[in-house]
Amino acid sequence: MDGDRDQNAIPCDGCIECCKSEQVILRPEAGDDLSTFDFEYIESALYPGRKVPALKRDPQTGNCVYLMADGCAIHGRAPAICRRFHCARTFKALGRLSRAQRDRLWARGDVLEEAIVERGRDRHRLAKALGLDNVLDTDMQVAAFEALAAAPRRR
Ligand code: SF4
Ligand code: SF4
Repeated sequence: MDGDRDQNAIPCDGCIECCKSEQVILRPEAGDDLSTFDFEYIESALYPGRKVPALKRDPQTGNCVYLMADGCAIHGRAPAICRRFHCARTFKALGRLSRAQRDRLWARGDVLEEAIVERGRDRHRLAKALGLDNVLDTDMQVAAFEALAAAPRRR
């Protein structure tokens, strides 16, 4: 970390791509209290072979049920993934993989979301311009991507 500067200093500038994701997964081990969220159990490539809790989605829009016209209705108590995830990190982590690994991740179809990766390209460029590239620790994400690239997709 660079002093008290962290990834939150890399602005989203009104983007809501994360809130359109199909997989806003809740993690009690990271402090998420399931009793305080509207959620359902879903399958996820990140947790093969079991179902995991994730925020429900609006059936009309497909967006997170907490996404309102003026932003997140539970800002301040949003799940850990909403506070931890940053597309700039995802993009940077992808850059540490081999071309073959990236191709396998895209081919799986259940790991990468194109809009978020594209937004990550833009936000990573901004992070570098702001001198914040070094706050994006990618080791855990690279390890997860490498494992997923090596594993066949479960049908
Ligand atoms: S995709 Fe990136 S810029 Fe958009 S909301 Fe998510 S973290 Fe922010
Ligand atoms: S809880 Fe808030 S920040 Fe997280 S996906 Fe839903 S609307 Fe977006």
